Amino acid sequence: MQTVIQVSQPQLKKMASYYAKQLTSKLPNGAIFAAKTPRATITGYQSGKVMFQGAGFAQEAARWHTEEPQKESHAMVRQNTTPGISIPRDFADWSVLGSDEVGAGAYFGPLTTAAVYVSKDNLDWVRQLGIADSKTLTDQKMKQIAPEIIHHLPHHVVNIMPEKYNVLQTKNNVNQMKAISHNFALGKVLEKITPNVPDGILIDQFAQESTYYKYLRNAQQSHIVNQNVYFTTKGEQYHLSVAAASILARVVELDAIARLSEEAGMLLPIGAGHQVDIIAAKLMKKGLDLNHFAKLHFANTQKAKKLL
Ligand code: MN
Repeated sequence: MQTVIQVSQPQLKKMASYYAKQLTSKLPNGAIFAAKTPRATITGYQSGKVMFQGAGFAQEAARWHTEEPQKESHAMVRQNTTPGISIPRDFADWSVLGSDEVGAGAYFGPLTTAAVYVSKDNLDWVRQLGIADSKTLTDQKMKQIAPEIIHHLPHHVVNIMPEKYNVLQTKNNVNQMKAISHNFALGKVLEKITPNVPDGILIDQFAQESTYYKYLRNAQQSHIVNQNVYFTTKGEQYHLSVAAASILARVVELDAIARLSEEAGMLLPIGAGHQVDIIAAKLMKKGLDLNHFAKLHFANTQKAKKLL
């Protein structure tokens, strides 16, 4: 739960004055300032190293990323896959439309993508939901939070159930399906919030930016969302909108798997492990069509057939 960045001396001074109102009394050895915000502790050292700790460490560090004295060309920054390298430093405070998807690694159930808009005005409200560390929340907690997101925030979910998925998969690879889903969900939310426009759009990254847009062009999408779009892995650490999208997508996926489990008359496990093979074999034995329940191109299909 911490990260260290290296900054220039002028930048270090700038950071010290930025945090001047939140300084702590204790100063570690070698430090020239130490500050505490509601979600992070920031310590700046003589050497130009600055350490960020606490639940909001990544968001806080992201404020300063583009200020790093790195002589990288623009092209290099865009190609770099280091999380958040091109995210503006105060991005966490922007009005942002974020998107994320789940289910790509699960044999049973859908591929689910959600986009959620969190405006500046809503940031405090979303923060109190306690979703900043969305990856560590339990399913139970996410199920409690999702209705709040649905009722209060502009959003759209693209839920591709297995039957549809299996048809699309014969013509598109999974990342292309993801790209189409993200683009569609983002476009829908942009429509909903018109005439408002987000300060930025953040896609939780699953492919290079250039590849993402190639997928969309190849799929001849009529409307391609490409204004003010940022890509990073671990997007949920850079803006709460991605954390919210991640939770919403997960809960829709879990609901879908619960419904399929009911239809199957047995609990369908998440993931793609051996337990999944066993259950898939049981479904076939029952005479049920796997096409309705599972992403057939996974190796689990062949393994289940062997078990049978
Ligand atoms: Mn993701």
